[in-house]
Amino acid sequence: MSDPGRLTVSVDTTACCAMGRCAATEPDIFGQDPDTGTVVLLDPTPPPALHEGARLCADLCPCGAITVTEN
Ligand code: SF4
Repeated sequence: MSDPGRLTVSVDTTACCAMGRCAATEPDIFGQDPDTGTVVLLDPTPPPALHEGARLCADLCPCGAITVTEN
């Protein structure tokens, strides 16, 4: 049985254009490589309190590099 409310975040670092919006918006989930600015996924299964922020970051990313899966 699936766990209701589970949310999984994934990132495509090859699509990331290092804008940094995700890290600025939800720094508990996303960081940035200090050299390249490319996204670093800090928490692929964030707690429910961060789910809205995860969805927002996926919407805000200008490169479509963030995917949120809910099941
Ligand atoms: S918002 Fe998108 S393009 Fe910008 S750092 Fe995050 S994943 Fe990369």
